[in-house]
Amino acid sequence: MKLYLNYYHIDVPSLKVKTYLLLLNFIVRLLNMVKVKVNQDTCIACGVCYSLCPQVFEAGEGGKSQIVAQYRVSGSLTEGNVDESLKDCVESAKNSCPTFSITTE
Ligand code: SF4
Repeated sequence: MKLYLNYYHIDVPSLKVKTYLLLLNFIVRLLNMVKVKVNQDTCIACGVCYSLCPQVFEAGEGGKSQIVAQYRVSGSLTEGNVDESLKDCVESAKNSCPTFSITTE
């Protein structure tokens, strides 16, 4: 019984610490996300963005750009949240888009 209590007293705080660290990690990752949008009204389906950054962009209906399923927000084809590690990729596509149809926040 005493051993169990010792184990209990040691383990519970350590579980709390792990939970807090996981939550903190989740919040930090959320804050470091890059929001990206594609305006399909102005997109001319040139394919530059999904050639340069296929991890984030893909050809949709009629070749117009859309966000790959993995990064879509609420199932939207044109809005996504991507990890900071893909920021350069997204920025490259955004800066190369001839119609300025890609925006980031
Ligand atoms: S680079 Fe711009 S115009 Fe070309 S497919 Fe992508 S969003 Fe559309």
